[in-house]
Amino acid sequence: MPEAFPSLADLHARNPLHQAAYPDASAVTEVVKELEQRPPLVFAGECDDLRGKLAQVARREGFVLQGGDCAETFAGVTAANIQGKLRVLLAMAVVLTYAAQVPVVKIGRLAGQYAKPRSKDTETRGGVTLPVYKGDAVNGFAFTPEARTPDPRRLLEVYNASAATLNLTRAFVTGGFAHLAQVHSWNADWVKSSPVGKQWEQLADEIDRALAFMVACGLDDDAMRSVDLFASHEALLLEYEHALTRVDSRTQRPYNVSGHFVWIGERTRQLDGAHVEMLRHVRNPIGIKLGPTTTAADALALADRLDPDHEPGRISFITRMGAKKIRDLLPDVIEGVSASGREVVWICDPMHGNTFEAANGYKTRAFGDVMDEVNGFFDVHDQLGTWPGGIHVELTGDDVTECVGGADDLAEGDLGNRYESLCDPRLNRNQSLELAFLVSQRLTD
Ligand code: PEP
Ligand code: MN
Repeated sequence: MPEAFPSLADLHARNPLHQAAYPDASAVTEVVKELEQRPPLVFAGECDDLRGKLAQVARREGFVLQGGDCAETFAGVTAANIQGKLRVLLAMAVVLTYAAQVPVVKIGRLAGQYAKPRSKDTETRGGVTLPVYKGDAVNGFAFTPEARTPDPRRLLEVYNASAATLNLTRAFVTGGFAHLAQVHSWNADWVKSSPVGKQWEQLADEIDRALAFMVACGLDDDAMRSVDLFASHEALLLEYEHALTRVDSRTQRPYNVSGHFVWIGERTRQLDGAHVEMLRHVRNPIGIKLGPTTTAADALALADRLDPDHEPGRISFITRMGAKKIRDLLPDVIEGVSASGREVVWICDPMHGNTFEAANGYKTRAFGDVMDEVNGFFDVHDQLGTWPGGIHVELTGDDVTECVGGADDLAEGDLGNRYESLCDPRLNRNQSLELAFLVSQRLTD
């Protein structure tokens, strides 16, 4: 018999980190009750399907592309913004699929990525200290006491925003937008203006020719018309994640139905902590972030706790060691896990170990560091004979100026032009596509 799913009170008894300090407990209870009545956002069977696809990746038969905002915002739930993100994700996936000829498992960091762990609890400006912004799920970004006070009713808005995002996403990926014959149109507004755009157009031309050939041969498959795109976020706020965990009628087992894939962050992956305890009971495929202090024993202990049955596709380790450290630190962790006989998915997050503050105060990342960490990830897997299973990136479909470098050579002085992220800096469309071309090269080397 599987153990009973822990109650919210059981989880809180473990003193979970990075939660919202709500001023009014009864308002939280009301919201949780309401969330518990809401229909699932994803189906258990879809989570099983993704677990199966991740099992293929662990067997070297695929590659994961996971990407989206660091933090989604309620204001960002617009058709243009969602379409922009999907467009760049699908374009990156096409680059990886076509150039590297591997099936790509596409996972959006979207439809639920509204809560952020922060390194400090408060922020001081001009002598005034207020609670730090912890994502739209918790409080508002404006620097006022009202906005910064955590409000549980925001969790209902997270649900609504996620439902709207998923609804549009499902329509885009099955309703014709994702048809391979449309690849030219995805980026038509920008192709002429950048070196990456030209590379993209060349690839789109090749795909057109290949498709025309296949159609002429009588092969016009459904697979060309739509794609699978899964939703993921960090399972951080216990009230929300717990209320959206449901026992599936087919299997009688709990699934977190707020997203297909949920991950545990670097700051909340304590072995006896509430987050590991909650997710150990759910059947979804689970990601675990591993930062530079991780030992092989840590990774193994987490895998044993979250996946005692060694179920294929259950565990993805998302490493974020930093460009300067990955080549030294990652081999031991991989070797330790491999020696246990486990086949996990290894995903590289080249963003979170490479953040720095520019001289003008902007939080940024350098494209060169991001690429260096990705190259380090491939180098280590090449040496060990293990499979580099995917990448996890913070990106947007817009031409923002948040990360420096890349083919357009964005400088620190350009950051102020269009810096829109409320949290971590994202790759813009050109930088994302450039990364995809470079990764596809590593996959084919
Ligand atoms: C994130 O993915 O935005 C994040 C906070 O990452 P990490 O848990 O790896 O620090
Ligand atoms: Mn982030």
